[in-house]
Amino acid sequence: MDANGAGDIDVDIDAFVALGRARLLVLYSLEHVTVNYRSSVRGADVAAYVEREEALWACARGFCEDDAIGEASSAAAVKLALCCAEKANDDGSRRLHPYEYGCEWLARVEAMLTRVRVKNGVEKIPDDFATPDCEFERPEGVEDCDVGAWMTFERAYVAARSRRSPLVKDGYVYVTRTLMPEVYAEHRERCIRNDLSATFRRLQLWVSEGRAPPAFDPNASYNALRAIRTWVPDVSELPDIPTSASTTNWGKRRRERRRANGVAQHAIAIEEDATATASGAVGPNATYRYVAGEDARRALKMVDRHVSTITARPFPPCMRSKFEELQRKAHLTFTDRFQLNLFLKGIGLTVNETLNFWRQGVFPKGKMKAYQGEHTYNVRHNYGLEGGMIDYTPHNCEKMQQEHKDGAGRCACPFATDIETFRSNTLGQSWYQSVSIDARDKIESAVHAKNPSAACEHVFEDAHGGFSIGPKFEFPDAYYDASMEIEEMCRERADHAQFDRKSTVPEDVTTADGARANVAADTHPLPANFNLALEDLSSDDE
Ligand code: SF4
Repeated sequence: MDANGAGDIDVDIDAFVALGRARLLVLYSLEHVTVNYRSSVRGADVAAYVEREEALWACARGFCEDDAIGEASSAAAVKLALCCAEKANDDGSRRLHPYEYGCEWLARVEAMLTRVRVKNGVEKIPDDFATPDCEFERPEGVEDCDVGAWMTFERAYVAARSRRSPLVKDGYVYVTRTLMPEVYAEHRERCIRNDLSATFRRLQLWVSEGRAPPAFDPNASYNALRAIRTWVPDVSELPDIPTSASTTNWGKRRRERRRANGVAQHAIAIEEDATATASGAVGPNATYRYVAGEDARRALKMVDRHVSTITARPFPPCMRSKFEELQRKAHLTFTDRFQLNLFLKGIGLTVNETLNFWRQGVFPKGKMKAYQGEHTYNVRHNYGLEGGMIDYTPHNCEKMQQEHKDGAGRCACPFATDIETFRSNTLGQSWYQSVSIDARDKIESAVHAKNPSAACEHVFEDAHGGFSIGPKFEFPDAYYDASMEIEEMCRERADHAQFDRKSTVPEDVTTADGARANVAADTHPLPANFNLALEDLSSDDE
């Protein structure tokens, strides 16, 4: 049978379901490797990139390699299953409706499979695809350009967007041999997406005319399409992922330095504000500054509507949502306030700084005013200074991913939900608007694979020029600490680079100074899209 509808032939339903699931296992495995591989492949980490590519190939290798019928049948099975879902009618019966996310997901992971197969030589790119779109000469003597074709930006969008092609001219981009599998995979993704809407229409007609096998009927007690669509492999069936390639625990480094500069984690010890601007070193690599009070100023800025992306960068999405709610309504539920206070405590704000955050940033705006007296008690209680004097620790991600008791089924982590809810909830959130298109695909895949922490790590990586958050990421305050540590390291590197340029380039050299300045910059490399231009964090009220 094929996805174009062949209702009048016999279908072995068990074999059909088994084929669909076998293909889904390959697709889920590819997604699992892409989502969970912690190392960034955007930097110069070639070994990590090669390792990830090998892991992807291990998922796809051998699947229907010399079996054209198995390949076509399994592809048809997943297409039929994921192009539709069932919806209940008022009378309790069910009908088919298009499954939007299913189509997008399938197109994306099938494109992944195509790319991996083409790259490893088991699938060929059709000759007509590689036909050039213009008559420009093939570039001579440029690395990796011996095989390839000039293509329009539209056709080679992935190459144009990533700017990895060495040659771009008059609306055309030269797709090199290395880039060709990616460009072709993206083309396949578009084709599959279009094909899935056509497949849905045919299936609907096929079912309504009674030509489909009975097991495709949405009202059948056993529905073969549902059996494929809702199947997910067991974790033990998915490939093992090596632990993070990044061994730097950025968050831990910052916490250690904060303690060394006199700001302890324990509440009672920090009731007195630390006023000194400390600059000291802990360990041979941590020579950059820790400025007491900077975190409090940054948190205060977060309740300002005009906060910049760079100031907001260290705050994890769960906390950004709370700050945004404070901006909009000047109010949070009890659990939200509790979690936010513990987070502020976790990132090193003293109790007085947290009280000041509420007094200066939130209470003047309205609704929370009524809570002032009660709130002071609550903040001091959260810091272990009232009542049972319990030194609460910040909630970890696992806890944040559970439902709120007072939140009508909500949970604080935006990634711990199904994909449709995630999309509708994040659409208007400012933190999501600053995430790149490439990273959004990875984030959605991680949400779909029910891996909220991996989704969050992709947000982090995207916002930090490819830097990984590092191992053992379990707390929202670890996200903040890691971000601040990276920011300070980059600032330090930038300062060094500037100093080196000034001190190593003789003043009278004008023509060659670009080259020499680059040498200095290479000694202190910075991620390409990591912006350090922080807005003024001082407040007029201070
Ligand atoms: Fe917050 Fe953790 Fe969820 Fe990230 S994974 S948004 S830090 S709860």
